[in-house]
Amino acid sequence: MAYATTNPFTAEQVKVYPNATDAEIDAALDKAQAAYLSWRQTSFAERAKILQKAADILRRDSDSYSRLLTLEMGKLFSEAKAETELSAAIFEYYAKNAQALLVAEDLPVASKDEGRAKVIHQPLGILLAVEPWNFPFYQVARIIAPQLSAGNTIVLKHASNVPQSAEAMDKLMIEAGLPAGAFQNLFPSHAQVSRIIADHRVRGVALTGSEGAGAKVAAEAGTALKKCTMELGGADSFIVLEDADLEKAIKWAVFGRHWNAGQVCVSAKRMIVVDAVYDRFLAGYREGVSKLKMGDPMDPTTTLAPLSSQGAVDSLKTQVQGAVAAGAKMEEIPLEMPNAGSFFRPVILTDVGAENPARREEFFGPVTLLFRAKDEADAIAIANDSPYGLGGSVFTKDEARGVRVAEQIETGMVYINHPTMVKADLPFGGVLRSGFGRELIGLGIKEFVNHKLIDVV
Ligand code: NAP
Repeated sequence: MAYATTNPFTAEQVKVYPNATDAEIDAALDKAQAAYLSWRQTSFAERAKILQKAADILRRDSDSYSRLLTLEMGKLFSEAKAETELSAAIFEYYAKNAQALLVAEDLPVASKDEGRAKVIHQPLGILLAVEPWNFPFYQVARIIAPQLSAGNTIVLKHASNVPQSAEAMDKLMIEAGLPAGAFQNLFPSHAQVSRIIADHRVRGVALTGSEGAGAKVAAEAGTALKKCTMELGGADSFIVLEDADLEKAIKWAVFGRHWNAGQVCVSAKRMIVVDAVYDRFLAGYREGVSKLKMGDPMDPTTTLAPLSSQGAVDSLKTQVQGAVAAGAKMEEIPLEMPNAGSFFRPVILTDVGAENPARREEFFGPVTLLFRAKDEADAIAIANDSPYGLGGSVFTKDEARGVRVAEQIETGMVYINHPTMVKADLPFGGVLRSGFGRELIGLGIKEFVNHKLIDVV
């Protein structure tokens, strides 16, 4: 396994990096530990100044950062710009709010004789962040902004196809004034990831990625008795009820399934439409998807980007073939496709029966599973018939009904009249095989702190 940038639009390999040596890993951990001992003593105001500077630099150099994201994983340049801004907003959020989020909490005690009790929130030490390629900056910002604010230090193992984005984040934090060692990008092998987790100075692990990687890394963290958070795959339901604004639902369905070329953990992967509006929804959805345009992700008229790699295209094709072999009907939307690049024509799968393995899989690309539900109760049952529990959405003009349905969906996030989205000031995370723990806001910053009780009796 080597770290390399390969342009998904041209298939050209641009830059290759060697894996780290064991000596480099050990030296990085020494540095991270030394940095921790002084970083934990800094004030919230000092940390906030650095985080705000990081946000300012991201915004100042947004075009060049965004070009890098598009080069390495192929997303539309406009989406890369939005990701860069979102990352800046996360840095800014914690610059403004970290101190208040971690303020000591006085506990109510029954009588004065019991003394005074409070809980303070202290950093733990070095954390390992293992991150995926689909949002090369946002995924990193989501962990380093809160955890640096809390006083922890971080070593990063980013996905092997986005090494330049990982390096850019490392340089960004140094330019923002972060002390050397407080955040370091490494290029470890999977075996070296195990070695980092086992190191006694490493106090926690945050992973965003697939179930396979999550299960392995969580098991290793468990063996070492270290706290971990897991942000894993998803198969979000997109429920359309009979009283929905259908035009709006169709517009968001097309977007929700195809932004980032469908490679989002919270993409609207399973459309569940009640019988009364199913045929009209399908006709409108098909028409909406037919209007997408594949092409150069740097071209502003392109609306459907290539997948991250040819390997991703091949495995998605195999998955679709498996669904069809198990009885699903497949409709390919005949978009014009560039000759080169890792493109995948959008597919709609219907008649995905209860026993079809596709029902329990995540399709990481522009493949829509479309279900006809008898009514609201049936839609909820289909939504909950999934091993995943990340996000989901409900379309209805009746807000109270939407909330009632949302309460019955077993996921970490549900949006009414919008596909699951990501924002700097909303929490993110799931249940079931989508993982455990939360990132962002107060929930995220409190994942890796010692909630210490001090009781004066
Ligand atoms: P992946 O293969 O699991 O990779 C994620 C990260 O884990 C990469 O840095 C990868 O490094 C590393 N990794 C993989 N196997 C490992 C192992 N055995 N030991 C140590 N590290 C390992 O996932 P992906 O295909 O890049 O990303 C797509 C998945 O992430 C999807 O399932 C998606 O839904 C999920 N995701 C979840 C969220 C969320 O917040 N819930 C957000 C985005 C994506 P290498 O590249 O070196 O293998």
